[in-house]
Amino acid sequence: MATDGSDKSVTIEALMNEQRTFAPSNEFTSQANINSPSIYKDGEDYEAFWAAQAENLHWRKKWTQVLDWSNPPFAKWFVDGKLNVTESCLDRHLEKNGDKVAYHFVGEPGDERTVTYRELYEEVCQFANGLASLGVSKGDRVAIYMGMTIELPIALLACARLGAPHSVVFGGFSSDALKDRIIDAEAKVLITCDESRRNGGTIALKSYADAAIADTPSIEKVVVVKRTGAKVEMKEGRDIYYHDLIKDQPKDRPATETDSEDMLYILYTSGTTGKPKGIVHTTAGYLLGASFTHKNIFDIKENDVYWCTADIGWVTGHTYIVYGPLANCTTSVLYEGVPNYPDKDRFWDIVEKYKVTQIYTAPTTIRTFMKWGTEFPKRHDLSSLKVIGTVGEPINPEAWIWYQQNIGGGKTPIVDTWWQTETGHAMIAPLPGITTTKPGSATIPLPGISADIFDEEGMSVPWGGGGYLVLTHPWPGMLRTVFKDPQRFIDTYWSRFSKPEENKWIYFAGDGAKRDTDGYYWLLGRVDDVMNVSGHRISTLEVESALVDHLDVAEAAVVGRNDPITGQAIAAFVTLKGHVVGNEDLINELREHVAEKIGKIARPASIVFTDELPKTRSGKIMRRLLRDISEQRQLGDVTTLANADVVKDIAARAAESASSKED
Ligand code: ATP
Ligand code: MG
Repeated sequence: MATDGSDKSVTIEALMNEQRTFAPSNEFTSQANINSPSIYKDGEDYEAFWAAQAENLHWRKKWTQVLDWSNPPFAKWFVDGKLNVTESCLDRHLEKNGDKVAYHFVGEPGDERTVTYRELYEEVCQFANGLASLGVSKGDRVAIYMGMTIELPIALLACARLGAPHSVVFGGFSSDALKDRIIDAEAKVLITCDESRRNGGTIALKSYADAAIADTPSIEKVVVVKRTGAKVEMKEGRDIYYHDLIKDQPKDRPATETDSEDMLYILYTSGTTGKPKGIVHTTAGYLLGASFTHKNIFDIKENDVYWCTADIGWVTGHTYIVYGPLANCTTSVLYEGVPNYPDKDRFWDIVEKYKVTQIYTAPTTIRTFMKWGTEFPKRHDLSSLKVIGTVGEPINPEAWIWYQQNIGGGKTPIVDTWWQTETGHAMIAPLPGITTTKPGSATIPLPGISADIFDEEGMSVPWGGGGYLVLTHPWPGMLRTVFKDPQRFIDTYWSRFSKPEENKWIYFAGDGAKRDTDGYYWLLGRVDDVMNVSGHRISTLEVESALVDHLDVAEAAVVGRNDPITGQAIAAFVTLKGHVVGNEDLINELREHVAEKIGKIARPASIVFTDELPKTRSGKIMRRLLRDISEQRQLGDVTTLANADVVKDIAARAAESASSKED
């Protein structure tokens, strides 16, 4: 099928043509964990590949079958295997690495606590004993609603030690969001903080939690971690302080044996596309995927100091702050706060101080750093960094280059990792010792993973074209279901392209992508966001990247708004770099810039300047709200929105610019 725009039946057109490439240096390759491309060949027999990798976990009883796919789309990996994830993450490291640092906790106000593997083990056991004394046992769900303190990973691990699935609810969410998730998960115990710290202030988590559990009959006990020491209401018989609960508990506790397929956790997606789904992950396959990808994508070495800046409230934190790094006996930084407290160089201050070797952050954060300017990273010595990563959204090529130049010193490999809450671990990403990277591309599927790009009919789109990103065989960390809603699991992920009558099962990711003539994947955003302009299916990401390519632009979001003539017209919302003022001339210049970069068809019909874009609490741009604004509709679900005022402000500006055009 033609993909040059001449054939209007194509699923998504590929307009951008980014040509820069960055091959790994010989120096990097020679020391890399993976330095031979033959691993991709090994991955083709994916069951054998993952079975071999699974030897790296600590098993109590080995599995009898690698994959049971006899009842698709319900997969079972490592059938009959018995283990407890905390034995891989903690116990097995104690003998040799008990004194090795597991976490350098860095509080936002500047307090610090360094925890070794032995100390982590002991506190996890104490808390597991404490939870058990409150009646938590295998299979019970525990809700966790906390700030990013050291007790947060301890809470996850204590649950895992007992075989009690955790359901972490991001500490920035409201009482209502917490309530809904507790009700859905039927959690028995809630773990929270008195207050959390953020942006120089505090958030009254315990009082939000109290409001939430006024209406949740399943919660029997509440454990409260003292973070600020603020006076909070403690309900007699229900609430207990963490330090009181663990104080007399033994520092040992045998791990509860779990099956490979026992539920490890529930996690709700971030809600960019609509109502969040309770994603269910199980034990062995998830831990395997987390540890293999962590070790090899970040090229983790024994003495590294690794830092993932995500919140543990998101899947990135589960997989790449807790389970992956601990299974690999890695030393991590755990930072509580925001990047601009007390100043806009906080991240770089931490990198310098702890000599961080890998940093893993989000495109939205990188674009914010671009907006602030290079003076902040320049204040610090960032030369300890060896690999720098990104996740969460497509990264615009200009942001990629900025990251490489200003954070990576122009030399460190960048690992852009595509994955989802549902996939459990990274799926499409470079292996930094062997993959030549291209700015804006997550490169190719990892060994043992198989992706494709489909058109509307479910036919594979030849290299060079765009369409729907799909995964074509099971993988170890895949979600097993949507909690209590297997039908939604089937409908959302497995119905679009599967052909049950031919026993062909295809996972539909909901993302658009193109694949270039080298077979590289370029994520184009959600398929719901794709615009249809005069019969051309154009991705929001490409127009946004063309805008971000302009020197004055820090960030951009575009949406298709209904248009009587073209079907949809492109409406752009643009945040300018610190010093720039937006005016009519700049609007014209930006429109021409897009036309030059990717073609006249993609020239935005309108551009509104805004100080901020509406984002989810995980920092992703919420285009559906911009569509609502552009089409002057009532706003859809805003419960996972980070900043409601921004939306009001943008709506006012959009209305203003619309009326000034009519004048
Ligand atoms: P919901 O499913 O509730 O709408 P969500 O999809 O934002 O929320 P997550 O699971 O946190 O929730 O995000 C996964 C999505 O993030 C992917 O489907 C993709 O759209 C985007 N994404 C993540 N990493 C990348 C990446 N490296 N490149 C491009 N897109 C990415
Ligand atoms: Mg999603």
